Amino acid sequence: MKESLCFVTQTATEAILLRVTNVCGECYGDLKLGDTIHYDTQNYRFLCDCCKEKLCSRMNEKCEIVHDEADPTLFC
Ligand SMILES: [Zn+2]
Repeated sequence: MKESLCFVTQTATEAILLRVTNVCGECYGDLKLGDTIHYDTQNYRFLCDCCKEKLCSRMNEKCEIVHDEADPTLFC
């Protein structure tokens, strides 16, 4: 897994889940208590593990999206 400064990895707590209405900001998949989630510091939203990986694969080290198309093998 590629580490990135573009995301802050956290464990989902009730307080966080309340703020994000329990869904991922990208795929709207359910986030559950205790899930590993990632705060997207560029877009101010929380993402599930899968969406974070997808975004990471499209970003350069400056958190800029450099590939328009996501790798089709990386669908959630
Ligand atoms: Zn997601």
